[in-house]
Amino acid sequence: MKQFKSINIKHQSMSVQSLKDKVRNISNFPIKGIEFKDITTLFQSPESLNELSDIMYEMYKDKGITMVVGIESRGFFMGPAIALRLNTGFAPIRKPGKLPYKVYEENYTKEYGVDTIQIHQDAVTKDDVVLLHDDLLATGGTMLAAYKLIKKMGVKKVYLNFLIELEMLEARKLFPEDVEVESIIKFDI
Ligand code: AMP
Repeated sequence: MKQFKSINIKHQSMSVQSLKDKVRNISNFPIKGIEFKDITTLFQSPESLNELSDIMYEMYKDKGITMVVGIESRGFFMGPAIALRLNTGFAPIRKPGKLPYKVYEENYTKEYGVDTIQIHQDAVTKDDVVLLHDDLLATGGTMLAAYKLIKKMGVKKVYLNFLIELEMLEARKLFPEDVEVESIIKFDI
């Protein structure tokens, strides 16, 4: 009988620490006093991409997610990747003037001035269970605005996800207690 070699497509499992080690810290970018977490170095390796995708898949595979919504712009890297794994659609939240169709919007206060985010009015429906994703949770202003925007659209449930959380800023406290907030890599600075 013909023998078939089994093909092992499972990659070597990495630890979260090794993912963390791949994030490049750039001090004083884009302005003095900011410790910028550069995720391009994390995305350079196929092992890291696979591991991130596996971790996120395990987190959400049983949650009944029907749509992944990613926040411009770094939420557009892993957002569609996890949507493919979960077999859901993907919708972008963008800065003003980028989306061509009718939008809903939310304003939020940043350190200097006010910012706005927008989403297409038909991006999600009342029946959707949404995974709202961004690369990083810092002060939480961006995600809080995105969360409010999605809630106003009357979806069934919202889960919040980040690749990185700057824990000392304690931004997860901004969200209601019954909202699941997950991050993969945690930093103290
Ligand atoms: P915030 O609204 O303060 O939670 O900021 C979140 C957004 O700003 C995310 O979309 C991040 O891409 C970006 N961001 C904020 N702080 C940093 C940081 N230290 N390193 C990299 N990106 C950051």
